[in-house]
Amino acid sequence: MIFSLSLLSLFDPGEAKMVDRLANSEANSKRIQVVEGCFGAAGQPLVIPGRVLIGEGVLTKLCRKKPKARQFFLFNDILVYGNIVIQKKKYNKQHIIPLESVTINTVADEGDLRNGWLIKTPTKSFAVYAATATEKSEWMSHISKCVGDLLEKSGKAPTGEHAAVWIPDSEATLCMRCQKIKFTPLSRRHHCRKCGYVVCGPCSDKKFLLPSQSSKPVRVCEFCYLQLASAGGGTGLDPRSDSYSRSGSKYNNVSDDEDEEDSSD
Ligand SMILES: [Zn+2]
Ligand SMILES: [Zn+2]
Repeated sequence: MIFSLSLLSLFDPGEAKMVDRLANSEANSKRIQVVEGCFGAAGQPLVIPGRVLIGEGVLTKLCRKKPKARQFFLFNDILVYGNIVIQKKKYNKQHIIPLESVTINTVADEGDLRNGWLIKTPTKSFAVYAATATEKSEWMSHISKCVGDLLEKSGKAPTGEHAAVWIPDSEATLCMRCQKIKFTPLSRRHHCRKCGYVVCGPCSDKKFLLPSQSSKPVRVCEFCYLQLASAGGGTGLDPRSDSYSRSGSKYNNVSDDEDEEDSSD
């Protein structure tokens, strides 16, 4: 019954024991096996003791180039998503996000992008959009509940630092740092891993080690580089407050997103 396109309540938040009971149910493991099967051999094993499939649905993920439909599965401990090859049958490009490190924030409606929220983690952060306001609120409340339960169980504090949400390519025709270089097929767009701005090559020719994102130094813009290098981790200044501001709250949260179709930069 949870397998409709929309995410329906599987458990009443007041009934905390429900998840524990489901964890041992055969129906639950069968459902998880089906999801595992849909990702095929390239996917990770998903059936583990104690894991519960809370719900699933299609969400629009804001990618570097444009918004794209992705299939999401919410488990009690992880959020899994992938590209839809055949609806309800075959998915690929599996991504697994441990919920313990997830923070979510609502995103104000803007144009065609409605019912959205940010999924922020230390390694990557991105915006997703549901079809309806009801679906959005169900997703958000279920994710919050799962994260809260995990933190309560582990006794850990919520994750403080998040990767930057990448500003989509289409939002910048000019470099967002120097405001001079116009992007063309020869003058390519790059993304700063620290602030998520779309910047030109000369404004992002430096790399800096951001251990939560990669074991190797990653591309950062000139502004962030100076901040990182001088303060060994930032001066507390918002890297996005100097030259660029948006009306909505969509990108005001500092955070990141690697992109499925083009993860180069
Ligand atoms: Zn520039
Ligand atoms: Zn930057």
